[in-house]
Amino acid sequence: MIEVISGSNPASAFVNMFVDPTNRWFLLYIVCSFSAAFVVFVLRARRDREILKGGLFRYLFPKEVYFHRSAVADYWFFCINKISFALAFAALVGVMAGIEKLSFDLLKSVASPPELPAPPWLAMLITTMAWALLMDFGLWVGHLLLHKIPVLWEFHKIHHSAEVLTPLTAGRVHPVDDALTLAFGGVLGGFALAACRFAFGAKALMFGIFNINFLLALFYIFGFHLRHSHIWLPYKGLLGKIFISPAHHQVHHSVAERHWDKNLGFIFAIWDWMFGTLYPVDVHEEFSFGMNGREEAEYHSVLAMYLLPFIKSWRRMRPIERGRPLDRFPKTGVET
Ligand SMILES: [Zn+2]
Ligand SMILES: [Zn+2]
Repeated sequence: MIEVISGSNPASAFVNMFVDPTNRWFLLYIVCSFSAAFVVFVLRARRDREILKGGLFRYLFPKEVYFHRSAVADYWFFCINKISFALAFAALVGVMAGIEKLSFDLLKSVASPPELPAPPWLAMLITTMAWALLMDFGLWVGHLLLHKIPVLWEFHKIHHSAEVLTPLTAGRVHPVDDALTLAFGGVLGGFALAACRFAFGAKALMFGIFNINFLLALFYIFGFHLRHSHIWLPYKGLLGKIFISPAHHQVHHSVAERHWDKNLGFIFAIWDWMFGTLYPVDVHEEFSFGMNGREEAEYHSVLAMYLLPFIKSWRRMRPIERGRPLDRFPKTGVET
């Protein structure tokens, strides 16, 4: 699951996010990301004396990023949203866990389990890979729909309205957007586990560290939080066709039209590669973060982030608007 929330009341659920290794906000994952950022600083400072002169702290936390109106809105939204919806999402995670049982019962009703004679290590390897791949594909499909269906795009706009990226921008997500993504990832991940249990029986175990899937933990450890930052960390060549690097996701946040609807992946880049939405990051292009260069500022308050998607999606559905071409991405000529 992309985010597991623990705790019996909103306040403890909020605090537990940072000490729970199954949660992406686990402090160690944040520390690992900034350790990766330190390595990037050392490598860049060797070639650029200006960066060296500015120092590590200014490189990691530039005030024009961390005090930007967009970033301040992120901080408020993160706290209010996580505290308000933590328990709701904990319940949703529970519902998603039921999908595995439902899928397993469904499979058993159409065929008897084959009990494949695979050695335990192979059954574990396949289960671990199958869950990570299918859960990730579910997230990719959910993300694609958020971009391609105009009403859903109105909810996803909140995330893309960020004009600067800080790790907390990952929490700049409308609850409707979060629920949809969680549902797609949860359903496909649950189905993968059910299919493996059907095929291998009790041997269908996931290999994990910190109580979560090994591949997901590695993804969190290797710079996950830099995807929402100004620090450019690309995976190039074949590696960049298999895994989404922080730089890939930064391109996803670009205001430049050539980058729109690209790099939709979470862990794996293979879905974008297969379906033609991968934008390689082998070359470091100059671009600004945002949505279309026109609407971003409207979303820099907590109230606007919650309400504007409902107002704008309602406007899209009004009869008077029907038949008109939908300006999902109004052209503004902000190509950078
Ligand atoms: Zn997106
Ligand atoms: Zn993002």
